Amino acid sequence: MGKNKPPAKYSAAGLLWRGLRKQSWPRVWREPEFKNSYDVVIIGGGVHGLATAYYLAANHGITDIAVVDRAYLGSGGSGRNTAIVRSNYLTPEGVAFYDRSLDLYKSMSNDLNLNVMFSERGHLTLAHTDSALRTMHWRAEVNKLQGIDSSVIDPAEIKRLTPSLDVSTNTRYPIMGALYHPPGGTIRHDAVVWGYARGADAYGVDLFQQTEVLDILTEGDHGSGRVTGVRTNKGDISTPIVVNCTAGWASTISAMVDVQLPITTHPLQAAVTEPVKTFLPTVVVSGSLHVYVSQTDRGELVFGASVDPVATYNMGGTLEFTEELASHVLELMPGISKMRLLRQWAGLCDMTPDYSPVMGPTPVAGFYVDVGWGTYGFKAGPVSGEQMAACVATGETPHLIKPFELSRFTEGNLVGEKGAAAVGH
Ligand SMILES: Cc1cc2nc3c(=O)[nH]c(=O)nc-3n(C[C@H](O)[C@H](O)[C@H](O)COP(=O)(O)OP(=O)(O)OC[C@H]3O[C@@H](n4cnc5c(N)ncnc54)[C@H](O)[C@@H]3O)c2cc1C
Repeated sequence: MGKNKPPAKYSAAGLLWRGLRKQSWPRVWREPEFKNSYDVVIIGGGVHGLATAYYLAANHGITDIAVVDRAYLGSGGSGRNTAIVRSNYLTPEGVAFYDRSLDLYKSMSNDLNLNVMFSERGHLTLAHTDSALRTMHWRAEVNKLQGIDSSVIDPAEIKRLTPSLDVSTNTRYPIMGALYHPPGGTIRHDAVVWGYARGADAYGVDLFQQTEVLDILTEGDHGSGRVTGVRTNKGDISTPIVVNCTAGWASTISAMVDVQLPITTHPLQAAVTEPVKTFLPTVVVSGSLHVYVSQTDRGELVFGASVDPVATYNMGGTLEFTEELASHVLELMPGISKMRLLRQWAGLCDMTPDYSPVMGPTPVAGFYVDVGWGTYGFKAGPVSGEQMAACVATGETPHLIKPFELSRFTEGNLVGEKGAAAVGH
């Protein structure tokens, strides 16, 4: 919980009292009046924008904040992801950063007073080649040095943990080993979005849906001046601070102040099957087969893959994705060939050259970015919100996100995470 407590509106006793008296449920967040001035405007009502607002209020006492989203809260990647969380990254900077997020996820149900269904079930990244196995050993060593529970296991141990996987040697891509990360798992993505929205609202943060930012107002030279406000479809808001949390649309927002981001937007597709009895206890990822899978508490298998190869803002699904996904999954788990796929969908991913995010201040005073979340930003929502809030409130970039500043691309200090983040999750 943050240092400043919001009013207790959702206590168990309060909800029971309403239920027994047949009173209608309270709205989860207010429909506030549109003001023409705020201390901070956050663009994007996904997990990053909402978490930043929540921690600005909870940890720093800054509550005069508007979060604006052109659609509904969680309509972007935050409501479309496959909900996998882990911290077994490849670089020391990445591991420390994502591990702080896992810590915040562990206490989130208590902190936000909402069951976010965190399921710490173990995460397996399969290796099918000698070079993949070498990368797994590398990751395991980097992880262990930072105290992260992560090790390479052999096919017999993989079979023991996940009996439905085919670990025989006569397959096209035999499984040679896996990076096993017990703290990895899944969490209910909508609950995380709603929890932060409700928490921020309780502190007095104003959440505006159907509110599109059309332009960012500045004074001084474009690309190096200072933010003075935003223009929206509902009117102008004056503000000295704007935080760009728009993920797949991040470069369109940054272009409004001539801040160039090294980001291209690609769709990422996912799919889900009919529910069946629980049989898959871990999250399973295969880099060589470009696929990953987990089973929900309701019994559906949720599949994901790598981003589509073409940069576009189109979120339509493709038959090629479904066909490739099915054939690759069946190589790993032939036993599920009779299961029916129910649905597929896509979201937009803001890809950077080094597969790490871009966070912190920019050359335009008052314009901050929390973007470049590619296929891996859901798990980073809590730590990003916490650290961006500290950055905005203090004017100093905290050490956990310092390596991810925009300037790294001109200074040549990339944080290469492709080896741990190429298969989207
Ligand atoms: C299929 C899929 C699977 C994924 N799986 C995982 C996973 O398992 N684990 C993981 O960690 N990550 C995963 N990701 C990535 C993750 O979903 C994203 O990185 C993360 O949700 C980004 O959150 P966000 O809050 O930054 O942005 P978003 O949730 O995308 O929110 C951005 C918001 O900005 C709004 N917006 C855009 N333009 C404007 C404008 N002009 N004015 C106002 N509002 C605007 C949009 O409406 C949107 O709601 C996955 C992504 C996809 C698509």
